[in-house]
Amino acid sequence: MRRKLAAGNWKMNGSMSAMSEVDGLVKAHPDPSVDILLCPPATLIWSMASMRGEHPMAVGAQDCHAAVSGAHTGDISAPMLREAGASHVIVGHSERRADHRETSEEVLTKAEAAHAAGLVAIVCLGETLEEREAGRTLEVVGAQLAASVPASATGTDTVIAYEPVWAIGTGKVATTDEIAEVHAFLRAELRRSHPSSAAEIRLLYGGSVKASNAAEIFAVPDVDGALVGGASLTAEQFSPIIRALE
Ligand code: PGA
Repeated sequence: MRRKLAAGNWKMNGSMSAMSEVDGLVKAHPDPSVDILLCPPATLIWSMASMRGEHPMAVGAQDCHAAVSGAHTGDISAPMLREAGASHVIVGHSERRADHRETSEEVLTKAEAAHAAGLVAIVCLGETLEEREAGRTLEVVGAQLAASVPASATGTDTVIAYEPVWAIGTGKVATTDEIAEVHAFLRAELRRSHPSSAAEIRLLYGGSVKASNAAEIFAVPDVDGALVGGASLTAEQFSPIIRALE
């Protein structure tokens, strides 16, 4: 049985004043029956991890460098994130693939670095609008899956997030049929590439998930939760999404 996961990606948003949202979330879900994760900017990881106290909510980062240390100005390594209080790290988010030209091969090295540091890697993949319109969705996500997910990935150290690029931050959600097709495809691909862990690796959907569409998306087979951007920034918006998963 895969435990459901409600993951929030704050992107480059939030400040110390936003810590009250964490307090609100923890109070609204004192004993959650699903996993809750928030990934704030790296500067807030330590504070957020302290703020949640004994609550099981996990704190994660949004990226890591593939190396442990060295001359990489501005970068942060997986062991550093772990020391700051993170247990998870998002790798290969489409904004990093686009803004920083990250390739699937680099994403793989980051996921491996995350694993070596004891972090759960949330590997993101998804097609652009152009690729979908050209009928290349499965080919693109299949290639990203094959190239970005470590061969040793298990259900405990890896989560995969399917996020169609055209649905991120646009208010345009994939239809449940579109989500079902890709999630079933990813599960089938995992059965071939990772036969012993395919049934345990969680598959999240991401892209304009909000309170009003969460229940419908979570009813899709093989959707084990969501990676939520905009609607994870406040407890008021994120809490109903968590409830829809419970
Ligand atoms: P969104 O972002 O929920 O704001 O569309 C999702 C994501 O980028 O992870």
